[in-house]
Amino acid sequence: MRRKTGFRKGAGFFARTAALTAVLLWGLFPPFSAEAAGRLQDPGEKLVVVIDPGHGGENLGTTENGHEEKSMTLTTALAMYQELSLYDGVEVYLTRSGDEDLTLEQRAAFAESVDADFLFSIHYNASVSHDLFGSEVWVSAFAPYNGYGFQFGNEILQDLRKKGLFLRGVKTRLGEKGTDYYGIIRCSVSRDIPAVIIEHCHVDEPGDAAFCDSEEKLREFGRMDATAVARYFGLKSSFLGVDYSDYPLAQAQDGLTVPVAVCDTTAPTECLIQLEDVDYSTGEMSVSVSASDPDSPLLYYAYSLDGGTTFEPREAWPGADALSGDTGGASFTLELTIPSGERPVLVVRAYNQYDRYAESNVWESSSVFWYREDEETEDVLAPAIGSESREEGEKGETQDASLAPGENPEPEGDGSAGNGGRLPAILAFCLAVLFALFVLLLLLGWMGRIRSMGRRQRRKEPGEKTNQRR
Ligand SMILES: [Zn+2]
Repeated sequence: MRRKTGFRKGAGFFARTAALTAVLLWGLFPPFSAEAAGRLQDPGEKLVVVIDPGHGGENLGTTENGHEEKSMTLTTALAMYQELSLYDGVEVYLTRSGDEDLTLEQRAAFAESVDADFLFSIHYNASVSHDLFGSEVWVSAFAPYNGYGFQFGNEILQDLRKKGLFLRGVKTRLGEKGTDYYGIIRCSVSRDIPAVIIEHCHVDEPGDAAFCDSEEKLREFGRMDATAVARYFGLKSSFLGVDYSDYPLAQAQDGLTVPVAVCDTTAPTECLIQLEDVDYSTGEMSVSVSASDPDSPLLYYAYSLDGGTTFEPREAWPGADALSGDTGGASFTLELTIPSGERPVLVVRAYNQYDRYAESNVWESSSVFWYREDEETEDVLAPAIGSESREEGEKGETQDASLAPGENPEPEGDGSAGNGGRLPAILAFCLAVLFALFVLLLLLGWMGRIRSMGRRQRRKEPGEKTNQRR
């Protein structure tokens, strides 16, 4: 079933009048303007938007982390449909509103049948390594659709960043035949319909999963998508009281006539690491990491302490900005704490916007890191009655232990006992008082019960007792 809306449903007389006024005004003042705010796309007199909930039917999409992408995309798409329908002069359609299995050709053909000005395909992501995170928008590699996709992608990604998501950028990808790799984009563009894929976040990465773990969060994504579409086309909504007709869209970078989404098929050219500082008595070390890529920004890094055999999960490259257009190179200082007993062989990978990486040179520690790791833990867990007496006790203990000055870990221990140790001590003291009260109450209750049992016994055997006394 396909759904269509011209104006808000369930409206009363007022809304109908408003709708009629909007229709009349439509001819005089179109609700969007291509020239204003550097808008590249001019949809003409009528604006038709098609929302495509990705997957459906047998095609489940990703099922990682207990999710089913086909239903997530539908929830988001329905909310997007509702929200976008609140704007003036826009016809909104869904490629599916139920659990249907549609081919990419069918979706694009439907968009063509309603004379769509844009198709927005709604998706959620997952990665093989389960450590990728962030939002991205895939667009056509070809003009003018590339520029349209970039201007829209820039809008939705700004919103997703404000929400706290990491950005993977507005991207393009080519297939073997040199056409757009993603079918929904390829099939739409071949019908002269701009199309984008919005990958909202990764369902299988703990950080991102928190953004999509409820129906309401999925609907929120949909409303966000609709607002980005409204800004992209410069729409107004008398119902919402907003007007984006002069909203400025992203403009071209230096030397280009239109803003473009990049396509990078190569790895960063190099990644270098250099030791800045190391402290074998605490395990702390800092290493400068630098990498360069002339084609796309650096987005992630991952490090290995075993010479590249295993890597820690990917982390955001500090200061990464997939929308800045900054290419060339970047560097940061990596702070690590090496576990005691280990001799690290450090290797770092620098990932670009297309998840391609360059591996660094190897930094091999000349000796094993060996230090007392458990000192702080012992301090926190030490039984304490009062913080003052505890400090004294500890000093005494250390003196008794008579460690050689070099081996004495006390300076560290002292610091944490004085500062970090006070709060646990107070807590422990409060707990001890509570426990004592509890025991006291138990005792009182117990004594009370014994006494009342005694009284009951006396009541039961009055004769005997009197007899005995007598
Ligand atoms: Zn998908």
